[in-house]
Amino acid sequence: MREEINRLMELQTIDRQLKELEESLSSIAGQVVLLREQLEGNQQELDRLTEQDAEIIASRKKAERELAEGEVRIRNKRMRLTLIRNEKELQALSHEIETLKDTNQRIEAELLATLEGADERTAKIKELTQAIAKGRAELAKAEKEIAAEVEQLKASIEKHNRSREQVAAAVEPNLLSRYKMIFNRRAGVAVALAKGGTCQGCRMRLPPQLYNEIQKHLQIHFCPNCQRVLYYEG
Ligand SMILES: [Zn+2]
Repeated sequence: MREEINRLMELQTIDRQLKELEESLSSIAGQVVLLREQLEGNQQELDRLTEQDAEIIASRKKAERELAEGEVRIRNKRMRLTLIRNEKELQALSHEIETLKDTNQRIEAELLATLEGADERTAKIKELTQAIAKGRAELAKAEKEIAAEVEQLKASIEKHNRSREQVAAAVEPNLLSRYKMIFNRRAGVAVALAKGGTCQGCRMRLPPQLYNEIQKHLQIHFCPNCQRVLYYEG
């Protein structure tokens, strides 16, 4: 039984190292993930603004064209006005000119509206473009910096996983599942020392009969309080 406990302790050592390695890996990778997210966010915002800008420029051009066409029509009608002698026709034509003028005024107002916020948008686009270029450089630098470390950590994790498998294969399956559950639920301490009649995992006083049995190492014992595997060092 002492051997079984030794295997569990070995497993626990490996599992703790694995946990640490995986935490380091995710914290190192986390910085790069953050930079990448920032970059993607800026890129999306830039795309949105650029699209908006293109739409507004297109509608401005359309308005400018309509305005120019309206001016031509007004000029033509005014020329015709000088040639007409019939009062009724004169009135009708004057009315047409007024309508065209109203339309042009409306288009002018629309045109002014398209200019609103244009400077701000241009400034924002410039700012985002610069931020993206800077972000790209930062990301590339960060990726390069951590690349070696990430590789090293991954290799180390793989190595630990292999030795973990070897040790775990020798542990009785039921005990192994129980160990895994306790390891995860008890912050990486599944095997605890029983010392001075107390479980060193949770500090609870053990029943004297149980404490005696643990010292004999005839079978695996668990702490009645924290469920950890208990062992004794003579
Ligand atoms: Zn305990």
